Order: sequence, then structure tokens, then C-alpha cells
Amino acid sequence: MAVELIFVGTELLLGNILNTNAKYLSERCALSGLSVYYQSVVGDNEERLAETIRTGLNRSDILILSGGLGPTEDDLTKETAAKVLGLPMVEDPHTKELLKQYFAKLKQKNVTESNWKQALVPEGAVVLDNDNGTAPGLILEKDGKTIVLLPGPPAELIPLFEKKVEPYLCSKQPETIRSTMVKICGVGESKVEDMIKDMIAGQDNPTIAPYAKTGEVHLRVTARAQSEDEAKKLMKPVVKELKSRFGNHIYTTKEQDTLEQVVVDMLKKYELTLTTAESCTGGLLAARLINIPGVSEVFKSGFITYSNKAKRKLLGVNKNTLKKYGAVSEETAHEMAKGCVFETDSLAALAITGIAGPDGGTDDKPVGLVYISCYLNDQVVVKECRFKGDRNKIREQAVVRAMDLLRR
Ligand code: ATP
Ligand code: MG
Repeated sequence: MAVELIFVGTELLLGNILNTNAKYLSERCALSGLSVYYQSVVGDNEERLAETIRTGLNRSDILILSGGLGPTEDDLTKETAAKVLGLPMVEDPHTKELLKQYFAKLKQKNVTESNWKQALVPEGAVVLDNDNGTAPGLILEKDGKTIVLLPGPPAELIPLFEKKVEPYLCSKQPETIRSTMVKICGVGESKVEDMIKDMIAGQDNPTIAPYAKTGEVHLRVTARAQSEDEAKKLMKPVVKELKSRFGNHIYTTKEQDTLEQVVVDMLKKYELTLTTAESCTGGLLAARLINIPGVSEVFKSGFITYSNKAKRKLLGVNKNTLKKYGAVSEETAHEMAKGCVFETDSLAALAITGIAGPDGGTDDKPVGLVYISCYLNDQVVVKECRFKGDRNKIREQAVVRAMDLLRR
């Protein structure tokens, strides 16, 4: 079934906001086996919106619209969709009741006519309660075509789509599509592709699709089947084979897990505490770990020791080490990790020192040379890495590699 996405909002056309709903909906549809063939962006203009909907109905089976469901003058998506389909607007008593409760809770006295406008829906619409806002989502069916209307704010659109729209649309599909993500770290993109060349050649069901991320490669395994269980059964041997080929380079097979989540879970599981020391990454590692809720149980401290003096004063790196080997060296990285543990009594430590460029490289120590050290169980392991890319890419890769080093 052909799906078309329509994003409504003049602010999108003007570039005032980024169309993150486009990325989200396209990705989700692909995951659910819904084929998106077209995407359009149209301003808050009735005529042009009507034209876009008509065009969509001519060439697609399912239209998903985002934005313009609110109470203001420029919000005209549902009225326009109703007009194009020839449906009258009627009051939905359930939505009206929810709105009443909402305004009562806010103690909002002067509820305007336009506020109540949100209780009006095209006749026959399936109304999707919006737990995060006042405008409900709507599904309209006419002449074999489906139009889904969703509010623009991502915090409203995403839960509505996942909880209500996706199951609705998937139930119309003759087959179910399931996928899983195998996330790999520490193996380059071309090496990964090389290692699965034979699996990809001639693949049909399930399929494997590689996606390169900074410092990681993700493999999406997708299966089509009559039921969810059957799809899972088809994927199982493929995932098993990938596990045997990539071993502990695979840090998760769960879609929602990130590397930092896996690291934090591991620290919790083994009751470890962590301190970080960063030079060229300037706190990026600590920031990524601290993004994870509940990290306070395991994260002790994060040093940003950019200068030699900071490395000496805050981490106790030996002056002679810095002089003899330099700040970007195996020896300095080693002492930085030890210093973390000594200064904060943590049980584990990660330290990063490197040359992110664009300046500062030499023949001996080129841009991209990064030493990453990990202290665990009274042992320090130091890894020498040679990353490619610009300053940011090098720093991001260093952070990923550091987390991966600790995880293993
Ligand atoms: P509201 O009731 O908040 O007005 P709405 O359904 O009418 O919701 P819009 O008025 O079109 O939606 O957009 C409201 C806000 O939602 C925008 O200011 C923007 O922050 C966000 N938004 C809208 N469309 C998108 C989009 N395509 N991608 C990301 N954010 C969006
Ligand atoms: Mg609006």
C-alpha cells in the first residue's frame, strides 16, 4: 500500500523549524513495512493544502498529515481534509468532554470559541485521544483511501502514531513486518559489509540492511510473515549467525538501546562506579553517559583536563611523563585513568587524550591519533586509535571507542 506524508505549516516552508516529523514518520513507516512513496510540505493555506490532499488521494492509498490541528486561525488541516472528502464537521461529545476536563484542570475560565473548535471532527472520523495535548488525532476512511491527521508537536505526534496509528495501519496490511537491529561497535563499515557479503547476496526474507553511524555500524534485520511470531522465527537464525560472526563487537540487538545505555546498565549490574578524564573530547563522553537517566548511581565525576597543567594538578599525571612522551601518548592516557581512580575512589575509569585537529598534527603524531585508556579490576588497558574525519568526527569516534572499551 502506497503511503504519502504531508507536512502542514508555513514555518516549515520558511525554515523556521526543522521537519523532524518527516524523519520520524518515514523511519517508522519503513519499519512497519509501510511504503512511503511521496512527501510534501505545504503552508497553512487552504487552497494549496486542498490541492496537495487531492493529489495525494489520486496517487496513494494512505495519507498521513502532520500539523495544523490546533485551535488557532491558521490551523485548518481537518477542515480542509473534510471539505476535500465532502464530509461535514460534527461535534464529538467525547472530545468535548475531555476538553472540558482539560480546561477545568487548568482553571481556564474564558474558554474561547476557537478552543471548542477542537471538538469538531469530520463525520465518521475515528477519533484518537491525545494524552499530551488538546487536539485529537483523526483517521478518515473514504472510497478505500485512508487519511490520518496528527498534531504537529512531536511530543503529541509520536505517542499517537506509535500507540494508535501504527497498529491501525498495520492491521490493514496483508503481511506483518518485523525487524530487529544488531548494533556493532569497533568494526569499520566496509569490514562489516565484507563479513556479511554472502548473507546479503541473494537475500530475500529476512533482509539485512547496514547503516553506518559514527563509530558504529547497525544492521537491520527485517522479516515479512503472516504473524509476528513467524517473523521472529525467521529472524532468529540470521541474528544468531551475525552473533557468531561479530561476537562481542555486538553490543545490543535491541532497537532502543544505545551504547551509553548498555555501558550504564553494565556498570549497574557489576556495581561499578566510573570517573572519566577527557582532553580532546572536552566532556563529550561524560555528557553522553549523563544523558542516561539513573546514571547517578554509577557515575562519579568527569574531569576535563585540556592543558598539561590540568592533567598534572587534577589527575596527578607525572611531569616527566608529559615531558618525555607528550600529552598524547599511551603513558599519559595510562596515568590519566589511574589519576581518576585515585582522585575519586571510583572502581573504573576512562580517559581520552588525542589530536582532534585540524592543527597540531605531526608526522609522528598525526591528527586523529587518540589514546584511550580504561581502568578496571586494578588493570589499565590503553588503546591507540587512528581516526579519520574532521575535528567533530574524530572526537565522536573517540567517545564511542572509549565506551566500547569499557563495555568489553
Ligand atoms: P498546536 O495545537 O500546537 O498548534 P498543531 O497540530 O496545530 O498543534 P502546528 O501548529 O502545525 O501543529 O505546529 C505546532 C508546533 O509543532 C510547531 O510550532 C512546531 O514546534 C511543531 N511542529 C509542527 N510540525 C512539525 C514538524 N513537521 N516537525 C517538527 N515539529 C513540528
Ligand atoms: Mg497550530
